[in-house]
Amino acid sequence: MRTAACLNRIAPYLFAQIDAKRDALVEQGVDVISLGIGDPDMPTPDHIVEAMREAVRKSENHQYPDYAGSLAYRTACAQWMESRFGVTLDPKTEVLALIGSKEGIFHLHTAFVDPGDYVLAPSIGYPVYSGGATLMNAQTYYMPMREESGFLADFEHVPDEVLSKAKIMFIGYPNNPTGAVATDEYFDRAIAFCLKHDLLLAHDNAYSEIGFDGYRAPSILERPHAMECCIEFFSLSKAYNMTGWRIGFAAGNAKAVSALGTVKNNLDSGQFTAVQDAAIQALSGSQQCIDDMRAIYERRRDLVVDALCAIGVECKKPKATIYVWAKVPEGYTSESFATKVLEEAHVIVTPGSGYGPDGEGYIRISLTTPDERLLEAAKRIKEIG
Ligand SMILES: *Cc1c(COP(=O)(O)O)cnc(C)c1O
Repeated sequence: MRTAACLNRIAPYLFAQIDAKRDALVEQGVDVISLGIGDPDMPTPDHIVEAMREAVRKSENHQYPDYAGSLAYRTACAQWMESRFGVTLDPKTEVLALIGSKEGIFHLHTAFVDPGDYVLAPSIGYPVYSGGATLMNAQTYYMPMREESGFLADFEHVPDEVLSKAKIMFIGYPNNPTGAVATDEYFDRAIAFCLKHDLLLAHDNAYSEIGFDGYRAPSILERPHAMECCIEFFSLSKAYNMTGWRIGFAAGNAKAVSALGTVKNNLDSGQFTAVQDAAIQALSGSQQCIDDMRAIYERRRDLVVDALCAIGVECKKPKATIYVWAKVPEGYTSESFATKVLEEAHVIVTPGSGYGPDGEGYIRISLTTPDERLLEAAKRIKEIG
């Protein structure tokens, strides 16, 4: 039996050592608090669960779904884009249902890259941007992402020989893991760049709804000319505490949406229509649940940032996302500091190096832990300081 060569090129799992240390501590009965995982701890709001209960009983939902997503779901997505961002979309040609946005982001590679092509990915980012390229036997070019540039990926210095073979440029703001947000000016430059170099600009907007201190993230599709070269990924996972439901959508340029749809037609048969019905309720029902959730994350963010500052760890309060991104103290690497925090405070944080080359020197702390556990973790971290 011989597996595909591309599997051998998948980056080795970076945190095996930390995981082994955690397992050993847990085995000794130590109370380890994980601030590592970006998975909302709060349940899906009731009105969405109720919509699912009703939808699951409808026998017409028990058959194969419409591959591109039910027209009702795509229409709800389009209406949400209109009311939330003022972006007008044709639900039939410019919206595609996804089985979670991760699925769509991965399959975009199948639709756009051939072996040997390049994908431009931020040097700190969601691992699927480069993982998808690897599994398609394509190459990843990492765009530098530096703190002094506000963690905005620098596409202006990509070498010509890479550009000539590049097909997709991935960016995502509000950003996982840095918490950075983009400016309109940055989006406009990215759009102009992609139009000039005939690239598809893929914008990952998984955290559009999680903004703090009054910040509300935009859609890149609001920008002039975006519909000529952009596809944007939305997910109900973080906005409505629906990670387990696997539902999201892609929106934007009709040719890009159609290409992604063609790939999906050949490999999946869409998401369970009942899940889409519940998602319609999420998008078109009361949005109060989002305000409530934002307030909780905002409080947790302040708590974590204050605790880190108290021990001299440099970090700023992010304007968005469910993460705090912090610089490790002098003399540590991402991994050695994460190991120290695990060994001495029994708290798991994620080494930034796992998100790409420029992530070295940082750690990511997730805010998806109940307040009392987060408080306890903050207290323990203060004690080792
Ligand atoms: C969580 C996350 C996703 C994936 O969300 P799903 O819709 O659950 O697949 C995509 N991009 C980023 C940056 C994320 O953090």
